[in-house]
Amino acid sequence: MTAAGQQLHQIPVTCLKGVGAALEKKLHVIGIHNLQDLLFHLPLRYEDRTRLVSIGSISAGETVQIQGEVLSTDIQFGRRRSLKCILRDNSGFITLRFFHFSNAQKNSLAPGSQIRCYGEARRGRSGLEIFHPEYKVVRENESLLIDDCLTSIYPATEGLGQAKLRNIATQALAYLGENPAELSQTNTFLDDFLPRELISKFNLHSLVDAIRLIHRPPIEAPLNWSSEGKNPGQHRLAFEELLAHRLCMRRFKTDSEQQAAPRLGAAANLSKKFLEQLPFSLTKGQQRVYQEIADDLAKACPMLRLLQGDVGSGKTVVAALSALHAIDDGYQVALMAPTELLAEQHFANFCQWFDTLDIKVGWLSGKTKGRARVEQLDSVGNGECQLLIGTHALFQDEVDYKKLGLIIIDEQHRFGVHQRLALREKANRHQLNPHQLVMTATPIPRTLAMSAYADLDNSVIDELPPGRIPVNTAIISSDRRPQVMRRIEQACSANSQAYWVCTLIEESEALQCQAAEVTAEHLAAQLPAISIGLIHGRMKPAEKAEVMQQFKQGHLQLLVATTVIEVGVDVPNASLMVIENPERLGLAQLHQLRGRVGRGSTHSHCILLYQTPLSKAGKQRLSVMRESTDGFYIAEKDLELRGPGQVLGTQQTGLMSFKVADISRDAALLDQVRDASEIVMKKYPEIIDPLIQRWLGDKVNYANV
Ligand code: ADP
Ligand code: MG
Repeated sequence: MTAAGQQLHQIPVTCLKGVGAALEKKLHVIGIHNLQDLLFHLPLRYEDRTRLVSIGSISAGETVQIQGEVLSTDIQFGRRRSLKCILRDNSGFITLRFFHFSNAQKNSLAPGSQIRCYGEARRGRSGLEIFHPEYKVVRENESLLIDDCLTSIYPATEGLGQAKLRNIATQALAYLGENPAELSQTNTFLDDFLPRELISKFNLHSLVDAIRLIHRPPIEAPLNWSSEGKNPGQHRLAFEELLAHRLCMRRFKTDSEQQAAPRLGAAANLSKKFLEQLPFSLTKGQQRVYQEIADDLAKACPMLRLLQGDVGSGKTVVAALSALHAIDDGYQVALMAPTELLAEQHFANFCQWFDTLDIKVGWLSGKTKGRARVEQLDSVGNGECQLLIGTHALFQDEVDYKKLGLIIIDEQHRFGVHQRLALREKANRHQLNPHQLVMTATPIPRTLAMSAYADLDNSVIDELPPGRIPVNTAIISSDRRPQVMRRIEQACSANSQAYWVCTLIEESEALQCQAAEVTAEHLAAQLPAISIGLIHGRMKPAEKAEVMQQFKQGHLQLLVATTVIEVGVDVPNASLMVIENPERLGLAQLHQLRGRVGRGSTHSHCILLYQTPLSKAGKQRLSVMRESTDGFYIAEKDLELRGPGQVLGTQQTGLMSFKVADISRDAALLDQVRDASEIVMKKYPEIIDPLIQRWLGDKVNYANV
């Protein structure tokens, strides 16, 4: 027995009937330790077992609950051995078929016994059949009750079936008491942290009501209640979960606002010089975000800003200007990129830009070894290196900055929320509170910006530099490859250059690179007059740099590449891009790739060379690329079609994986959640910790290591 007033999260599952050590272990596997965990282990879907259907009325494809008498049970030796059991009621017959069965099972299905079963009827060898139905033998004189609510189907695990999960969930629900409304107010068992003000303002159910509605929906509820986002219980929990996430992100922000950072940019001499030597003037969009950043840098607390802008909108120049504010005042800057190739591009760019300003630019990647590494670390440590560019190697333990004032993270979508927060922690550990500028490769849909990036202020460059001509996109099937070859020849004979991008489903980088090598050989055979280069992720940095240089200088006409060239590569003379098997990539990624062309003054083309047959949905997806060159629009479509996990990338799971909420389905909640979070921070700060603990638990602790 449990003591009165005990909280559900303090009551272990073993206090439930039928939960011994063995079951406890299995429950631990799916993260269930106590009764609160159990109540927050929510059903995936529902089944309707609230009525019995007469056998004669069933049609194929229906999932039904029936009851009848066993007419015969035989083992059949067809292509596969199976147990066939014929069941009848006063309206008709149906066959139950089992491919895995025991003798005991065969015996229990003896002719004459009454069976109640549940499953999907399909057309089979002998009329309608149900494969592997769930079934119960109804004993004589026993009247089995029909369920009075929809049946929950829970995420399960090996050796822990639905019946058991349902049974213990029912026991846990009983702890919520007879009068849920009253109990939730007295906080006896399960704290409802949300204050009345929020409950009524946002029209929410109480927590206990919500939990009951989710586990045991009433008969009248439609089966797709939850997937449609219409279950008010789910609505309430999704709201609370999104609120917890937002509060967590916001807390990172308010925590950092408490910290001290250097005020930068009082003189801003270097940035003035830099602007003077630029061959172009900033767009209005660039000027505006540069001002926003400059204002932040001048404050005594760390900047945390997200810089968004479409591919080619000129984020790098803005990053350079920001860096100069720090360098001018004697602080160091770290610029981190997600891939070596992109980091190298930045390095080449910044070296050239900053050379005349007499600024020392350094390079560090995981592959920097030996003397070069030692020297680089030294020059970072003694402050000689003013701007350090590289991959995440920039934040390994051995890298000790003398006076780090600004961190710039490019193409943030490749890094996880975790990495971003961990990095901030690392900076703090060193008693440094640098400013942070986070740049994204492509625009982020508003819903994701509001959830995944709620810890950052937002700046948007909403225009492209003048003179850009939109890339023309064609969707062409792989049968028309010869035509594509001619297009490449035409482009090259007109002194233009082209990319050929290979995509592969294989996760292995080795296989991707191999495939690119094979493609390059084929193309070389088919296009003997054209000089072809190859670049992929497995080449040494020096080799990659060499190939890029050759391409940039026009010695190579066609560059065969893996998606390593997705980000950052800037060769204005390239005006044609062929993407093989574009159906394998997300829209945002395609947009990013396509952004490698259309940088010069000629008309550019992108050919999406798809593999036939292509599904209707696949065609629809690719046609978004033909219709639009607006990164913000494409990002929204990408989110709609693929969901947030895919759009943010695998790295982003973790902090951004939700138990109940679904960013696409619950998009409409986000504005309310934002408002609610402001109210909570102002008036109810005491519920922030418990909410975060309930929904994010241990996930947030990594950031404090
Ligand atoms: P992204 O935002 O995709 O990172 P980049 O910073 O790489 O874009 O800029 C794309 C190209 O546009 C570069 O060649 C850059 O020099 C050029 N560029 C940036 N700003 C301007 C501008 N205001 N006018 C003309 N060209 C610009
Ligand atoms: Mg860029």
